[in-house]
Amino acid sequence: MFSKILIANRGEIALRILRACRELGIKTVAVHSTADADAMHVRLADEAVCIGPASSRDSYLNVAAILSAATITGAEAIHPGYGFLSENADFAETVEAHGLTFIGPTAEHIRMMGDKITAKTTMLALGVPLVPGSDGELANLEEAHEVANRVGYPVLIKAAAGGGGRGMKVAHSAEELSDAWSMARTEARAAFGNDAVYMEKYMDRPRHIELQILGDNYGNVVHFGERDCSLQRRHQKVLEEAGSPAISAEQRDAIGRTATEALSRMGYRNAGTLEFLYQDGQFCFIEMNTRLQVEHPITEMVCDVDLVREQIRLAAGEKLGYTQEDVAFSGHAIECRINAEDPVTFAPCPGTVAVYHPPGGLGVRVDSALYTGYRVPPYYDSMIAKLIVHAPTRAQAIARMQRALDEFVVEGIKTVIPLHRAILEDPGFQKGDYTIHWLEQFMAREP
Ligand code: ADP
Repeated sequence: MFSKILIANRGEIALRILRACRELGIKTVAVHSTADADAMHVRLADEAVCIGPASSRDSYLNVAAILSAATITGAEAIHPGYGFLSENADFAETVEAHGLTFIGPTAEHIRMMGDKITAKTTMLALGVPLVPGSDGELANLEEAHEVANRVGYPVLIKAAAGGGGRGMKVAHSAEELSDAWSMARTEARAAFGNDAVYMEKYMDRPRHIELQILGDNYGNVVHFGERDCSLQRRHQKVLEEAGSPAISAEQRDAIGRTATEALSRMGYRNAGTLEFLYQDGQFCFIEMNTRLQVEHPITEMVCDVDLVREQIRLAAGEKLGYTQEDVAFSGHAIECRINAEDPVTFAPCPGTVAVYHPPGGLGVRVDSALYTGYRVPPYYDSMIAKLIVHAPTRAQAIARMQRALDEFVVEGIKTVIPLHRAILEDPGFQKGDYTIHWLEQFMAREP
């Protein structure tokens, strides 16, 4: 086992990793920008190294500075968290080249899944069903027209290097296709420096269902069931549930078997998530994330597993030590992402937290790096807390989330807590009958 780990991230996830390390008796090194000198993960870590100015490009994405920090502190492994360098294959490779362990999958697998076209061809070859669309990259607009005619409108043009919902454009008809084509490519080039695009049928009422996977270095792979992340705004997740109100235990077993067999044949190691669109009883693979995800806690609650601890154990070369039969599901969990944003306009609201009082009680978990007096810096992601509840049934989990949201006090900055309250009160949400389009329709009709 490692004796010291460097955490190459900030905010709640840095703290989440730090907590797992502490319970494993592993020393921690925090790295931070000048803007984060007062951050909670910096205060709690055994050692802290400033790696650059506020801009993430010069700090949390600064590979040379992070590696120097690891070297001077004698860290043996690096946990990248999510975002920043977590899905950067070159970073994973550089870390390993320096004789350190990257806590995650191999650079080869990160690279493969980072290109969504390669990800889809790989999964198809391994027997995982896909959304109908182009066979790989679209060579030109003519080919886009051909594929669209074959799969039928509406269609979606997506960036091979895509992420965060960027480089994605819908076309409802042949007339709209050439604009969607050029807009998607321009956006992809600007955001990712790669304008390769592909096409998928635009599904009209899917749910976003994803499967949590863990693999060890010896070909053993298990899944921890699904998360329903259909509640999205601009392709960004807002509230997640485990399990999905739409998926039965039999369906979970079936897709879980397909996914674990595929990843075992790939030799995939560490944590990963397969994302699917689910409609009319069919799962269609869209992408794989080769890292820990923001919404991992809801899986931890229903499976009684510490995914970060598992990641560290597996990266150290330990075996999984259990099989699929040992993974049991209990109750229902919900996560609300609390962003420092105006609940109506979604404009970011950084600033000083005058009062912070998180909720508590049975089945309530808050993953956050906030404290009273903390100044939310304007330079980074606006998510300041994750409120997670766990209860025996979905109805009880909803009631628990409602009372936890009512207890949550964050003064001095605006948050999206009022939006979450409104969602949880809605009879449509309570029935569990929603698709990826539900939240935007709900917000359009709410006054
Ligand atoms: P990104 O990596 O940019 O987040 P994804 O491929 O994961 O992109 O898609 C993000 C979201 O966009 C999905 O959760 C879903 O809501 C929507 N989406 C993606 N592909 C399709 C599709 N073929 N039809 C309808 N919606 C889609």
